[in-house]
Amino acid sequence: MSSLIITNATLVNEGSITQSDVLIRNGRIEKIAPHISAEAEKVIDAKGRYLLPGMIDSHLHFREPGITQKGTIASESRAAVMGGITSFMEMPNTKPVAITRSILEDKFEIARQTSYANYSFYMGASNENLDEVRAVDPSNVCGVKVFMGSSTGNMLVDKAEILESIFKAAPLLIATHCEDTPMILENEAKAKAQFGEAVPYNQHGIIRSREACYKSSALAVSLAKRHDAPLHILHITTKEELDLFEAGHPRITGEACVHHLWFTDADYDRLGALIKCNPAIKTQADRDAIRAAVVDNRITTIGTDHAPHLWEEKQQTYFKSPGGLPLVQFAMPALLEMVHQGVFTLEQVVHKVAHAVADRYQMIDRGYIREGYWADLILVDMNQITEDVPEKVAYKCGWSPFNGTRFRGTICTTIVNGEVVYQDGETVHKKPAGQRLLFSAHRR
Ligand SMILES: [Zn+2]
Repeated sequence: MSSLIITNATLVNEGSITQSDVLIRNGRIEKIAPHISAEAEKVIDAKGRYLLPGMIDSHLHFREPGITQKGTIASESRAAVMGGITSFMEMPNTKPVAITRSILEDKFEIARQTSYANYSFYMGASNENLDEVRAVDPSNVCGVKVFMGSSTGNMLVDKAEILESIFKAAPLLIATHCEDTPMILENEAKAKAQFGEAVPYNQHGIIRSREACYKSSALAVSLAKRHDAPLHILHITTKEELDLFEAGHPRITGEACVHHLWFTDADYDRLGALIKCNPAIKTQADRDAIRAAVVDNRITTIGTDHAPHLWEEKQQTYFKSPGGLPLVQFAMPALLEMVHQGVFTLEQVVHKVAHAVADRYQMIDRGYIREGYWADLILVDMNQITEDVPEKVAYKCGWSPFNGTRFRGTICTTIVNGEVVYQDGETVHKKPAGQRLLFSAHRR
């Protein structure tokens, strides 16, 4: 089997920065020591570069099966490894929606054949599939996704007694999208009366309002408390919601997404539909409060919510343009740029995108640079510029909301299960390197 030595690396791991060599054999980290003299098939001199655990993105949409004109597991996982993401957990709103174990297993099979990164898939909850949710194997499925009031076809869970049952009975982590639909519908009607079809995009954060976010997130937290359920509220967008979380709480946690840490409502006039997403990007005060909560640990993890749509779809008027933006390729560069800006330290970024995700999902042997763990690693040059220009965008949809941005920091190399899958601008590994993610079996 394969072996690889990374020499002269500057490791960023578990809150500290140290110089070391790393020996990888058969996909796992065998040894971490200052000078390793073992023989290996391949040697990478990492002088001047940081060695980080790869990002584990616990929140994204790859569109396969059924919506593959927007993206496939192959196309988007390739973009992900180019962006330093070595593992991902994908959402159930594909076609058909993943609300049975058999549909879910079909997705795992596609990923087994085509994914560049390690993978898991959420079971979707609906008003009708409680038995399927109960029967999920928590040792090899990342979580159950509950859309508590986002309009995603038949996956909206809006019956109070069903929500109670899910929080009572789900055998694993419950990840929620929290927005109150009746409040949003009312705001949409108001906007339509005022503007007609051509609602300006700067109204998006007012229509998908902060009150709608808070009401739904507060409900999720109260359900989790009542049933002592493990809850992870995805993509928090308002400063009020941050008060629902306690730093270090083991069971009620929140996620921030890269675009909510980067953009503000001042960007709508420039970018319009390109940054239309749900929940909406809100104000600078919200963005700054979420950044502070990442630092003080009220926010536990950072994800992307990568959600590609076609350029033509995004050129339509407000109500027709779908919510969501592609992010996996430039999420880590954006976070590295935020390190340069003094928003986060490199150690904090590593904690939020790797260690904390592995801990929250109780993943087995991933998310840290440790002997015995899988070698999911990235090499980063903090002095090299990543340019988001159209010819470099790897998404199937072909566009990026960061278009034209220059990020200080570049992902030079991505290693998945000990295999170099991406190096200096090219994906280099021929066969898919991703594996199914595994979790501790007792997750409730
Ligand atoms: Zn999402």
